[in-house]
Order: sequence, then structure tokens, then C-alpha cells
Amino acid sequence: MPRRETEAIILRTYPLKEADKIVSFFSRAWGKTRGVAAGARKLKNRFGAALEPLSHVRLWYFERETRELVSIDSAELIRSYFDIQSDYATGLACAYISEVCEQTLPEREPNEHLFRLVVLALEHLRQTGRIWPALTYFDLWAVRLAGLLPSVERCVACGSALAPDAEAYFQLYPAGLNCARCRLDGAWELSAESRQMAREMLRASLPHLAPRAWSRETGADLRRFLGQRIEAHIERKLVTRSALESVE
Ligand SMILES: [Zn+2]
Repeated sequence: MPRRETEAIILRTYPLKEADKIVSFFSRAWGKTRGVAAGARKLKNRFGAALEPLSHVRLWYFERETRELVSIDSAELIRSYFDIQSDYATGLACAYISEVCEQTLPEREPNEHLFRLVVLALEHLRQTGRIWPALTYFDLWAVRLAGLLPSVERCVACGSALAPDAEAYFQLYPAGLNCARCRLDGAWELSAESRQMAREMLRASLPHLAPRAWSRETGADLRRFLGQRIEAHIERKLVTRSALESVE
């Protein structure tokens, strides 16, 4: 039984029997993995606060060749995101990031870029307490890294370039943006402002974005477009995405 060591983000935990937990975690070295933390539900246990959702931890675990679940030996907290989850909005934003990782990451496939994206988004949430810039950036890059981002520069139907101030509309099938001429019934508009934001986010890192007066409306059409891409890919709705729509 090889003992592995990895940085990880705790995605979710579930109770198992009386005293144990099943832990789903995003390992930096080995990708999404699930394991058993024996005794983790006892009042005094060796994991402390390290297995709280979204904790950034160093984990040690044993692979068991014949079993799907690894056996978590110990965990050491690198950074806790427990405090920010007591706020409703940032707590929901954390739950959203966790759900997207749970639903979109294949088992046991490392994804260094996405790992860094999750840490970046969580740090931004912790430092600013504002959810919309972090979530818009997270959505855009999560979709891009999954290979699901259509061009924001060209019409998917006729291939013509979308001028920065031209109207553009998005739809599910075929996924992408349409110019005003190719617009289909029921397509949503993606504003010129939001397309400009997407271009900026693909170039500049989250802490270096131009200052904006962010509200829920800022980039809402872009997040809808990106959320649709994720939901089409996983073939189900994200539970936390509809909850986020009620946040001011
Ligand atoms: Zn067109």
C-alpha cells in the first residue's frame, strides 16, 4: 500500500457509519479522489478542521489496489476557508466552486491549471468578500480549461468577426455566439460590455482586472452563458447556480 502525499482542496464530505467520513477531494498531484477518513466524526480526532469543505490541505493517504476509496491517513491545514462560509453569499460561492469541481472533474486526472484557479478564486473571495468577480472569472476559466469555451470573437454560424460594439447572442446548440443576422429564436444577448470583460479575463489574472462597480448584474449574461456550457456538458443542472441567482 503506497502512502501518497499531496496538496488538495476538500470538496465535500459525507458521514459514513458512526464515526467516519467519506471525503471527496481535488488532489493537486492526482486529481479528484475519494477516500475514507476513519474516526473523523469523533469529537476529538486527528484531522481537526482540515476536512472542512474547501480547506486547502496537505493530505497523506494510502491507495488500496482493490478498492475505489483511498484511506486518508492524516491532513494538515494549509489555508482554511471555513470563516468566509459563515457569510451567506461567500458561503454559496464556495459551495458553487465545490459543486463545479465535483461535477466536471474526471476521477484521478490531475489538472494543475484548474487547481490553481480554485485557489485563486478562494483567495479572492477571502480577501475581498465580493463574489461576482471571483465567480465570473472562475466560470470563464473553468469552461475554458474544460475545452468548452466557444469563440467570443466570431459568429459560430457565419464565421464573421463580432465587432466590439456589435450585438451578439448566445445559444446552446450549436454552442457559441451569433451575430445579429444569424440570431436564432430564443437566443440571449451577450452584451458588448460582458464580451469585453471576457476578453480582459482571458488576458489578465483576477487580482489585476480593471476596477468595476460589481453588482449581481455585472457579467450576469456572461455567467449565464458559461453556466449553460457547464450544465450542457454534465447533462444536469447545478444546484448552487440557481441559489446564487437569489443573492444580491
Ligand atoms: Zn453570423
